[in-house]
Amino acid sequence: MLRQVADGVLIHESEFIQSNAVVVQGRAGVLLIDPGIQGDEMAALANDLSDSGQPVVAGFSTHPHWDHLLWHAQLGEAPRYGTARCAASLRDLLWDAGWKARVAEGLPPEIAEQIPLDLFGLITGLPAGTARIPWDGPQVRIIEHQAHAPGHAALLIEERGVLVAGDMLSDALIPMLDLNAAEPIEDYLAALRLFEGVAGDVDVLVPGHGSVGGAGQVRGRIDQDRAYVHALRDAAVPDDPRVGPSAKPGWEWVRDVHNGQAQRLARRSERDGTPG
Ligand SMILES: [Zn+2]
Repeated sequence: MLRQVADGVLIHESEFIQSNAVVVQGRAGVLLIDPGIQGDEMAALANDLSDSGQPVVAGFSTHPHWDHLLWHAQLGEAPRYGTARCAASLRDLLWDAGWKARVAEGLPPEIAEQIPLDLFGLITGLPAGTARIPWDGPQVRIIEHQAHAPGHAALLIEERGVLVAGDMLSDALIPMLDLNAAEPIEDYLAALRLFEGVAGDVDVLVPGHGSVGGAGQVRGRIDQDRAYVHALRDAAVPDDPRVGPSAKPGWEWVRDVHNGQAQRLARRSERDGTPG
């Protein structure tokens, strides 16, 4: 179930689009990042942790998208953190009494029944500018940026050389831009520059979806994401193995994601005359 990727850092890969939950061992229990998707998976993870005497003492959601905001009662009642912007965007969603139906509409129909929403999105926002997750374990640096979703945070577990990238730097999924933002292209490129600044400290890269990468893959994935974003900006056809016939089996739908965001960007630039 849990696979060690570095000293004291383990991952659990969900069936749904290779979603990675990350467990970081601390002194009195674990930090659980983006816990998983289906109820039985999270319950099994909770059992594994409690069997090994490791309660969840803190949670973290990398960004306010449904597949990073789930929780299971058996994981307990530890504080679940996110950035202030992440929490604010959830407040906007959850204030409405009809939020559950709205979230449910966006779930993949084939597994929607297995996705528990009772504890969805109960995120405590850390004050803006918080540098590290407040918990009793290895220092976890928060690298906040505005690519992909409001208040997205990547996490750098400095002593272990692990970068938890959230929904970026995937070998399977192309950069998905936050097309509701004012400057989605520039936001994305700025986030990639932040990653470049820490790349030398990373031995293990864990994307939110896709395969774990080693030290030798960090710069390659940054370059690949940047090239994709440049192609999108320039309305060019991306030369990207994740789009098209060379996509990983089961990931052919990524081409539709690409086409969808290329069309939305084209409409935007028609509307206001500026790219992105
Ligand atoms: Zn996402």
